Amino acid sequence: MTSLKQHLKSHFGFEKFRSKLQEDVVKAVIRGDRDVFVCMPTGAGKSLCYQLPAVLAQGITLVISPLIALIQDQVDRLKSLNIPACSINSKLPAGERRLILADLGSRSPKLKLLYITPEMVASPSFQPCLTDLCIRGLLSYLAVDEAHCVSQWGHDFRPDYLKLGELRAHCPGVPCLALTATAPKNVQEDIVKSLRLQSPLSFSTPVFRSNLHYDVIFRELLPNPYAHLHAFIKKTLALDSSSNGQACGIVYCRTREGCETVAYQLTKLGVLSKAYHAGLKAGERTEVQNEWMAGKVLVIVATISFGMGVDKANVRFVAHWNLAKSLASYYQESGRAGRDGLPSSCRTYYSQRDKEQLNFLIRQEIGRKQEKRGKAKETDKAAITDFEAMVKFCEQEGCRHATISNFFGDKTPNCAGACDFCQNPKIVRAQLARAAALSTK
Ligand code: ADP
Ligand code: MG
Ligand code: ZN
Repeated sequence: MTSLKQHLKSHFGFEKFRSKLQEDVVKAVIRGDRDVFVCMPTGAGKSLCYQLPAVLAQGITLVISPLIALIQDQVDRLKSLNIPACSINSKLPAGERRLILADLGSRSPKLKLLYITPEMVASPSFQPCLTDLCIRGLLSYLAVDEAHCVSQWGHDFRPDYLKLGELRAHCPGVPCLALTATAPKNVQEDIVKSLRLQSPLSFSTPVFRSNLHYDVIFRELLPNPYAHLHAFIKKTLALDSSSNGQACGIVYCRTREGCETVAYQLTKLGVLSKAYHAGLKAGERTEVQNEWMAGKVLVIVATISFGMGVDKANVRFVAHWNLAKSLASYYQESGRAGRDGLPSSCRTYYSQRDKEQLNFLIRQEIGRKQEKRGKAKETDKAAITDFEAMVKFCEQEGCRHATISNFFGDKTPNCAGACDFCQNPKIVRAQLARAAALSTK
């Protein structure tokens, strides 16, 4: 018998599974007796979790994905591997659509993976075809990619995803696989409920990363905040034990002026730093990024527009000079530290004034959106709830890792001193007491 690994090699050209998790998911999907929920970061190889089972199954796997561009990308890749895949969408010429529907209606269809956008699910031309496949037992799996789109709490809510619950009901007995990269607990619950997953097997990359040290410093209590930041940077860069090029770091600021000021102050204190924000010309931004990637600039002082798709191993620290707008984005931004697994620091410089400003800005933004569309929405509340989680993270007396893990629905991890509170709760309490005294003055 051909082993799973051999199939992985012969169909996809991969020598081994990306991770134990990827292998476990594939096996669970192939077993086929339960619904499956998968939460793994972007780039972890979630597609393979349904593509490999789809290739090995008798029938057809229906994949729901939110964007035609994403779908096209995957279909092209599968075709280049000689795996029969295609997509039915609103942009498809009628002739091609007819050909696909004819294959699906035939006794033994050749197609293995059929990609559709959620609005297709309800389309009158497609519904009968789907029902027919189902009755003939030709539907192997239902895979819902980017499943967080189903949740109003998510950052990417798409109303059409709500129709998928009904689709589910039309295909009894077909196991469903839901995949996403970002799922705080409430989003996970929405996914399970809306897709009507039945006691799904859940596979998630652990949120907890033991090599990241989290702490919070109240900026308003510091006599000289820039000197404090400078000392932190010197210390974390000196601790670097890798031989993987020049260690470096990121400071996130909310505004362009903030970036310019912090970069100027740090450079003046002797750490070469450069600002990165939307006010620079595209060419300047690329240059700053390249210098930082090459280790010529030690610290990039950036707005959150920086970091998407940046994969640098030896980032020894991520400092937030201003509060992040939600705990989910903070986790993502701070998580750019320590990708090589070596000890790294994540620090927030918290300030009461910052909190008030951001609170105001978030509510103003919501007000603008409501005015435009003329009514309130569930998503509006989400922005405030997520911001409040961020504030609580800073103002709490408790383990920072525990707060993050619990926010994403993970169990409380064994922090073992990887945050300021677990390292020394007295210092955290003293800081809170001083901040309280300052605010009542
Ligand atoms: P995700 O959906 O989780 O963001 P993708 O499914 O798009 O990730 O996969 C990311 C990349 O990883 C793709 O280029 C894919 O070909 C590659 N990949 C997936 N599984 C493996 C594997 N077992 N070995 C090597 N590369 C893999
Ligand atoms: Mg994906
Ligand atoms: Zn802790």
